[in-house]
Amino acid sequence: MTQVVQRHLFGPGPTNPYPEATEALARPLLGHLDPAFLALMDETCDRLREVWGTANARTLPLSATGSAGMEAAFVNTVHPGDVVVVAVNGLFGQRMCEVASRCGAEVVPVKHEWGSPVDPERVLAAHPSPAIVAAVHAETSTGVRSDIAALGAAVREAGDALLVVDAVTSIGGIELRADDWGIDVGYAGTQKCLGVAPGLAPFTINDRAFERRVERPQSWYLDLGLLGGYVGEAGGRPGARTYHHTAPVAMVGSLHAGLGRVLDEGLEQVWARHAAAGQALQDGLEAMDLELFAEKGSRLPELTAVRVPDGVDSAAVRRILLERYDIEIGAGVGDYAASVWRIGLMGPNARPDAVALVLGALAETLG
Ligand code: PLP
Repeated sequence: MTQVVQRHLFGPGPTNPYPEATEALARPLLGHLDPAFLALMDETCDRLREVWGTANARTLPLSATGSAGMEAAFVNTVHPGDVVVVAVNGLFGQRMCEVASRCGAEVVPVKHEWGSPVDPERVLAAHPSPAIVAAVHAETSTGVRSDIAALGAAVREAGDALLVVDAVTSIGGIELRADDWGIDVGYAGTQKCLGVAPGLAPFTINDRAFERRVERPQSWYLDLGLLGGYVGEAGGRPGARTYHHTAPVAMVGSLHAGLGRVLDEGLEQVWARHAAAGQALQDGLEAMDLELFAEKGSRLPELTAVRVPDGVDSAAVRRILLERYDIEIGAGVGDYAASVWRIGLMGPNARPDAVALVLGALAETLG
């Protein structure tokens, strides 16, 4: 039998789950059409509406990881030849371009320097009448937070483009208000600040975007028109459920429990806890004379990118942290693979003890 290994998951995700989310996985399995499960799914969608900051009826956990959320966003909204302006300030903006282009979009990427936030003016200036504008709220590849409220206001003022937002690393960690900010379509993941294992993609789409959707998208699995029945759209009228695919029952139960934990603590308190942990970590790293990668003023608290000091072997440090301290941190991405580390304090790990642990282990390792 393979040995059970336990790690401190201080990388870009997955994070260690909240205990409530793990405990839920051990409960007796229900059938995916059992009334008890349908009630749990309804409540999960209600809880998702709270963390998204939305009243959208069509808010659900898609049965796949965050990237499937991205696919669902574009495959349901991009009509052939639509202009999609994508703000690119890291890996996940790049991925949006790739996915939108495969859905038949004419993609207009607006490239930003990695480490800087999205500039709404530049995004708006890229095209006079795009069908969709897309951006990443929390760029996990660089540790940068972009101002989606400002982008949303600018997009609304400029025309009637839909705003698609990646909230994979922001949901449950920093302020997110889908309705107030004008997000038409949003997707996220469970494995970051929500403190649940990877496997589901919290998703939300408003009426405006749903009405403009592609009638028969190329993807059957991610067709939102069909998925409405799966979650008993708009509050689950009795008999409104239709079989679409077998719900990942255990994972939905785990998400339900994780969301319960977050909402019991209170969203604002959870955001404050992430903010405090991130600030303490970033202060500690700077006190060690390490340089932070993301622009000051736009640093995410839940994911800190830090430059590897000259002459230090980035991979060797990560290996020592893993083998000696059971701590996982992330490497950088793309051009920064060997010159940046990424340290995540997400969900239950956004705590002072985790800050002390990772700073202490890093200081000892760097000598
Ligand atoms: N978008 C962002 C910002 C991410 O950080 C990630 C994963 O790290 C994804 C999308 C893709 O999500 P997944 O890896 O769960 O498919």
